[in-house]
Amino acid sequence: MFGEFASSAEPEPFALQPLPLGEIKPEGWLANQLRIQAGGLTGHLDEFWPDVRDSGWIGGDAEGWERGPYWLDGLVPLAYLLDDPALIAKAERWMNYILEHQHEDGWLGPLHGQRGGKPAEHTHDAWPTFVAVKAMAQYYEATGDDRVIPALLRYAAALQKVLEDDPLFEWGRHRWMDGALSMLWLYDRTGEERLLEVARLLEQQGYDWRAHFTAFPYRERTDRSKASMDTHVVNNAMGIKAPGLSYRLGGGGSAKQAVFEGLANLDRYHGQATGLFSGDEHLAGKNPSQGTELCAVVEYLYSLEYLIATFGDPALADRMERIAFNALPATFKPDMWAHQYDQQANQVIACVAPENVYTTNGPDSNIFGLEPNYGCCTSNMHQGWPKFASHLWMKTPDSGLAAVAYAPCTIQTRLGDSEVTVRVDTDYPFRESVAIAVTVDHPLTFPLLLRIPDWAQDTRLEVGGETVASPKAGAFHRIEREWEGETLVLLRFPMHPRVEPRFNDGVTIHHGPLVLSLKIEEEWRQIRGELPHADWEVHPLSPWNYALALDPKNLAGSIAVEERPLGANPFSPEGAPIVASVKGSQLPDWTLHRNAAAPLPKSPVQSDSPQEQLTLIPYGCTNLRLTEFPTLTK
Ligand SMILES: [Zn+2]
Repeated sequence: MFGEFASSAEPEPFALQPLPLGEIKPEGWLANQLRIQAGGLTGHLDEFWPDVRDSGWIGGDAEGWERGPYWLDGLVPLAYLLDDPALIAKAERWMNYILEHQHEDGWLGPLHGQRGGKPAEHTHDAWPTFVAVKAMAQYYEATGDDRVIPALLRYAAALQKVLEDDPLFEWGRHRWMDGALSMLWLYDRTGEERLLEVARLLEQQGYDWRAHFTAFPYRERTDRSKASMDTHVVNNAMGIKAPGLSYRLGGGGSAKQAVFEGLANLDRYHGQATGLFSGDEHLAGKNPSQGTELCAVVEYLYSLEYLIATFGDPALADRMERIAFNALPATFKPDMWAHQYDQQANQVIACVAPENVYTTNGPDSNIFGLEPNYGCCTSNMHQGWPKFASHLWMKTPDSGLAAVAYAPCTIQTRLGDSEVTVRVDTDYPFRESVAIAVTVDHPLTFPLLLRIPDWAQDTRLEVGGETVASPKAGAFHRIEREWEGETLVLLRFPMHPRVEPRFNDGVTIHHGPLVLSLKIEEEWRQIRGELPHADWEVHPLSPWNYALALDPKNLAGSIAVEERPLGANPFSPEGAPIVASVKGSQLPDWTLHRNAAAPLPKSPVQSDSPQEQLTLIPYGCTNLRLTEFPTLTK
C-alpha cells in the first residue's frame, strides 16, 4: 500500500527484546494485585464513568480524545495477563468498534478530537491515536487478530499524510515518541520501510527532548508564570524515552547519553525518594511536600520499560522496581477504587486544600477519589501494574532470557526449537529469596541473564545445586549452560537498611527495593460521591513531625526490621509484610503549612522531646507517611 520511498537505514535493534503480551503470566502477590485492580476502577470504569462509558471512540457523545484510549492501554494488558473473560470481552468490544470504524483515509478514532466534547481546531489530532495504537499493538500480541496489522499500516499512511499537511501540535508535539515507538513496532512485524520515515517525521516535528535533557535549564520549582509544556511533569516522564527513540532511529551515542543525563538532572533538581521526580503539575523541586502526578508515575515506568529494552542497562530496572514497588501502589486506595492526582513523599494529610503547595494543581489534588483535580489520571492509571508485569523478563539478542525485574510469574516462550518455561517463585520485594525453575523440553544451550540490583551486595546464587561465586551488584549476571529438564536457580539478595541523604540534609531509609516511611494512624472521611468509587480525605490520628536518632556507624543497630505474613492486601498499612522500628523525637515547631508538611528543617536538629520507638512500613503500603526525615544531633 505504500508507494515509492527512499530506503532508510535499519533501526538500532533492542538490546533486550520485550516478550509479547501473554508470554509472561503473573503469579502470587502480583496476580493478586492485578485482581485487586480488576476488581476496582480498571475493571468497572466503563460501566459508570461517562468519559469512558460514552466515549467518542465507541460512538458515544462524551470525550473522544485521550481518555478512552488511556483506559484501553491498561485494560488490554490487564485482561490478557489475567485471562479474565469479562475483561477480555470489554477489550474486544472496543477493538471491534475501532477496527470496524476506521476512516476511508485510514485514520483511527473520532475526528476533531472531541476533547472534553469541544471540537478542536485541527480535524486530525495525532496524540490520542498514539495511545490507541499502543493498546492495539498489545491486543495484537495477545490475540494475533489478523485485522490489526493491515489496519495499522493504513493508519500509518494516513498519519504520514496528516503530518505533511498539519504538523504535530500541542500534546502530540511533546509526545511524538509514543507514535514513533508504534511505527517501529509495526516495522519489526512488516519490514515496511516507510514506517521508519513516519517515525523520523514524528521525531523531526516533535519537541527536542534530547536538547532539553542535556541542557536542562529547569532547575528550580517552576514559577507559575513559566509553566509550559516543557516543564509539565507528565511530558517529562514520557519525554525521557525520546532520546531512546532517537537512538533507535540512528541518533547514536549522544542520544543514549541524553537519557542518562536527563535521569540525573531530574534527580538532581526535582528527585523524590521513590526514584521519581516532583511535578504538581510542573517540575516542583526537591521538597518532599511537593506532589507528583499519577500520570507521571505510570508514564515514567513505561518509559523505563522501553529504555531497558533499548539499552539493556540494569540501572534503569533498579529505578523501575523502586517506582513500581513504592510510588505506584501508594497513590491508590488499597482496594484501587480511588486514586490521587498528586502524591507526596511527606504526605501527612490528604484533604481538600484551597491553600496548597502545588505549582498549578488545584485543591483536590492529593485526596483519594474518582476524578480528583482532573480526569487524566482516572483514565491513565491503569497501565502501571499490567505493563510492569509484562516487562519482567525479556529476550537477549543471542536467544537467551533476561530477568529484568523480580516478582512472581511464569514465562512460557520458545527459544530456538525448544519450548522453555520459567517459573519465578518469590515474595520479593518483601523477601530476599527468588527461586527460578527453568524447564526445557529437550536439552538446549542458551544464556540466562539475572539482574543483580545495585543495592544487593553479597548476593547468593545457586544454579542446579551448585553455588556460583558472588555475582556483582548493579549488573546482569550471565549463566551460560546446557539446560536440561528442570533446573533450579536460587537467588538471595540480602536486604539491610540503607540511609540515603536527601532534601535539607534529611534522610530516607531503604530496605532492598523498598522505601520505608513512618506509619501514621489514619482516618478516612468520605466527602463526596458514592461507594465504591467515592472521594475521601485521609486525616492523621498520630503525630508525624519526627526527627530520627540514627547511628550512622551502626545502622543495623538503629533500625530493626521484622517480617510479617504476606496477606491478601500487602500494599495497605495493616497488610505491610515488613515493619521496621527506629527511635526518634518529635519536633513541636515542625507543623503544617498550606495543608502540607512544612519543608523539613535542615538537619541535624535538636529536640527536647523524649525519644520514642517509631514504626516504619514500606512506602507502597502507606496512605499517609513521612519519608524524608530530619536527623537529631547527637
Ligand atoms: Zn493525570
